[in-house]
Amino acid sequence: MSKLRIRRQVRLANRQLDLGENPSLNSIQAWIEARRGRPITIEELPTMKGDDLCGLCMTYEDYISVVHATPKSSWHLQQIILHEFAHLILGHYRTATSLDLTKLPGFPDTPLQVLGRVSYEDDAEAAAEMLADLLSARINHHPPAAPNDPAGFHKVFG
Ligand SMILES: [Zn+2]
Repeated sequence: MSKLRIRRQVRLANRQLDLGENPSLNSIQAWIEARRGRPITIEELPTMKGDDLCGLCMTYEDYISVVHATPKSSWHLQQIILHEFAHLILGHYRTATSLDLTKLPGFPDTPLQVLGRVSYEDDAEAAAEMLADLLSARINHHPPAAPNDPAGFHKVFG
């Protein structure tokens, strides 16, 4: 897919996101949960190394699980989560068998679908990165809910 087509697809997806007056990780999560009909859990997975794989998204029958490596900063954490959210918004998925989960100990049951970075070059990754940046801009454009909580993390993790 050409860069132009990816950009167009991402812009369209971004425009369809009704995030209310104060976009936050929380409102993006709520939008996805409503669309997918499942709650999303977000957890740090210390066994995930984070050099080449920072985040993973798995769809189970009753919920969606986003796991991430130990982030370098709160901004980094926001980027990882937005990237995984972007895959969900764009409807990307891979089958569980396309990723070797045995290299990532600590997973519960085998998920129905797994989203994870396979290559930095593929279109889905480029689109997810682009959308994550747009979402980040939407979050950061609005005044934070609380001075120490620029991304609304307390709502997501509290
Ligand atoms: Zn990705």
